[in-house]
Amino acid sequence: MTRSPFASRMEAALAQARAAAARGETPVGAVLVDRATGEIRAAAGNRVRELHDPTAHAEILAIREACAALGSERLPGHDLWVTLEPCAMCAAAIAGARIERVYFGAPDPKSGGVEHGARVFDHPQAHHRPEVYGGLAETESAALLRAFFAERRRD
Ligand SMILES: [Zn+2]
Repeated sequence: MTRSPFASRMEAALAQARAAAARGETPVGAVLVDRATGEIRAAAGNRVRELHDPTAHAEILAIREACAALGSERLPGHDLWVTLEPCAMCAAAIAGARIERVYFGAPDPKSGGVEHGARVFDHPQAHHRPEVYGGLAETESAALLRAFFAERRRD
């Protein structure tokens, strides 16, 4: 069976989410892909607890890593793959970085800021509106989160 590059990118993001869960973090993972080469520029999972940093979401860490590597505050020509709908903070960072496309897994009615809540990219103040594709590997992304929170409740 040949796997599409799309599946492998979301699979890379899911691997980051699983690694985050193993660290006791909310299982969300993200990868940034250079559209021209297909190369993964950065990959990260949540590290909010580890870094004592409420901004250390997977998307923010991946954006920081790619920007540092490129020596630029903008990432045109890059796509972000993330297992959960980005929150408003991450959506603002995605717009600031001028990321071209956002592919996300599970929708997040509670904290999402793209299809829910602040709907950052639809806001007149948005500097940049990426193309957004949601619901990819939604079942697996959501199952990871459910398992994580079920485990936490047992503690
Ligand atoms: Zn976020």
